[in-house]
Amino acid sequence: MSIAVALDGPAGAGKSSIARRAAKELDYIYVDTGALYRTIGLAASRLSIEPVASVEVDNLLDKIKVELDFNDDGEQMVLLDGEDVSGLIRTPGASMMASKISAIPQVRAYLLDLQRDIAKKNNVIMDGRDIGTVVLPNAQVKIFLTASPEARAKRRYKELCEKGMDVKFDDILNDVITRDYNDSHRKTAPLKPAEGCVMVDTTNLDFEQSVNKIISVIKENV
Ligand code: C5P
Repeated sequence: MSIAVALDGPAGAGKSSIARRAAKELDYIYVDTGALYRTIGLAASRLSIEPVASVEVDNLLDKIKVELDFNDDGEQMVLLDGEDVSGLIRTPGASMMASKISAIPQVRAYLLDLQRDIAKKNNVIMDGRDIGTVVLPNAQVKIFLTASPEARAKRRYKELCEKGMDVKFDDILNDVITRDYNDSHRKTAPLKPAEGCVMVDTTNLDFEQSVNKIISVIKENV
């Protein structure tokens, strides 16, 4: 049977970079489920669909094909109708669109099987908001990774500046706070710690300490 690690937590807690590294060390596949919501958000933006009208979203989901692929190094690529959009979905605009579109129940239902299929066939660390609560409630390990909003905004700000993006810290902090609110107050699959999860707070941990903590939690539970 394959091993599943469900890693949930708010935006910017470091889930993706920590999980990517931990997965490499354990030889698991790292699955970034946020990329799926971002991709549907991108598809909606391209067709100028406001992610509130559910009929329009139904039509959109009927038309598009979203797939995850992994290269030989285990790096995830997300494809929209066969186009690799992995880079295009990494902007603050795409983050906000993903946050809005992810509140729509049909979108969450549409992505459920895709996520479960990957976990059925591979040992995974799957990162998201509802992995331990909804997608993989029977995961052997469930972790809720968090940090203070300021610490998370600082990290995201640094990351975007390093990519050469012209962003303001206060805007990033506001984005983090707004996305936290949207994610934890939506009706379908809100962000919350799964029952029986291990809470890990990375506010005062550096990257290496966070990776080591996650690996030790996984090893203790598998
Ligand atoms: O993880 P990331 O920041 O890329 O996710 C983008 C957005 O997608 C989040 O703000 C959240 O609203 C949504 N999301 C979700 N459920 C997941 C993963 C992401 O609702 N499992």
